[in-house]
Amino acid sequence: MQIPFVDLRQQYSEIKAELMQGINGVLERGIFVGGEEVAGFEEEFAHYCGVRCAVGVGSGTEALHLTLLACGVGKGDEVITVPNTFIATTEAITLAGAMPVFIDIDPETYTLDTAQIEGAITERTKAIIPVHLYGQPADMEPILAIAVRHKLLVIEDAAQAHGALYNGKKVGRFGVAACFSFYPTKNLGAYGDGGAVVTDDEEIAQRVIMLRDHGSREKYRHEIEGLTSRLDTLQAAILRVKLRHVDRWNQQRQERASLYDDLLKDATGVVCPTVREGGSHVYHLYVIRTKERDRLRKHLEDRGILTGIHYPVPLHLQPAYNYLGKGEGSYPVTERVAQEVLSLPMYPELKREDVETIVREIKEFLG
Ligand SMILES: *Cc1c(COP(=O)(O)O)cnc(C)c1O
Repeated sequence: MQIPFVDLRQQYSEIKAELMQGINGVLERGIFVGGEEVAGFEEEFAHYCGVRCAVGVGSGTEALHLTLLACGVGKGDEVITVPNTFIATTEAITLAGAMPVFIDIDPETYTLDTAQIEGAITERTKAIIPVHLYGQPADMEPILAIAVRHKLLVIEDAAQAHGALYNGKKVGRFGVAACFSFYPTKNLGAYGDGGAVVTDDEEIAQRVIMLRDHGSREKYRHEIEGLTSRLDTLQAAILRVKLRHVDRWNQQRQERASLYDDLLKDATGVVCPTVREGGSHVYHLYVIRTKERDRLRKHLEDRGILTGIHYPVPLHLQPAYNYLGKGEGSYPVTERVAQEVLSLPMYPELKREDVETIVREIKEFLG
């Protein structure tokens, strides 16, 4: 028996005809950068998020990087974020020329601990990047209140949370801008790299449009320096097809998650995900916690069940961030969680029987 951690092939066969039509259209029109597919996707994705503008870019990392540049965040500025995220969040900050400043996380939701924000603010602080981790929105209300009080920008890292709700509103509508990734395994994934910046602020959108294409809105007129970071036309065609299905896929993820919750509720020594009241969780990842993480992982692997760890080493303990001088013990909740988290197989097509098998094996291990 084999239960993969993620499987993208079933989804492909389900929507193959629609995809082929989209891809063939691009090949036949012969326009591979920009064009109607990119513009069409941007319009549809903006509508999906409930914002005025969406700008397609090369990746989620670039979405964050270009948003920071577009907001004027750079040298000498500090940006507050969490150490339990993918390194892209902090790479974007340093690529823009600014400094990441970490604060610890809430032990229940694993998102930014809002009680720690004010203690981290200095006169150099320019922005906060909350990460909607695993598919669950960060606690935006207190974050926004603090940001207003201290005149800080809020930029959402929504790379794992397409379609997730906070107080009934989709992520992407809370900050000055929000950044999405369309990496293949994300809830809305392309068949290659891609990303988007969404915002209600036309000026930010226009600056990202320039930055992604050599500072140019008009061929060979360069208003500023930028780089090459456009959303590929073929990927845009693929994303337009997939966007039509993403709410259903998220719902299927939620159904798998509640089955896991249900079956695991009498398992001692396992902590299931907590969903914040008033919000929704779109389960990019279904992450449990257990003190026996490494042994449980091995037990499952020996039985053909593949799992993941998000993330095994907190960013402040990564060699790349030695220079920040934050050793062990700096962010105790993050460090403890990193020892205990285990991501179970999660994708819309995961079978009910597979969830049952996985939980049976977990319980057998726990004894
Ligand atoms: C995936 C991810 C990114 C980066 O997206 P890419 O498209 O891979 O560049 C950024 N932040 C978080 C939280 C992510 O999970």
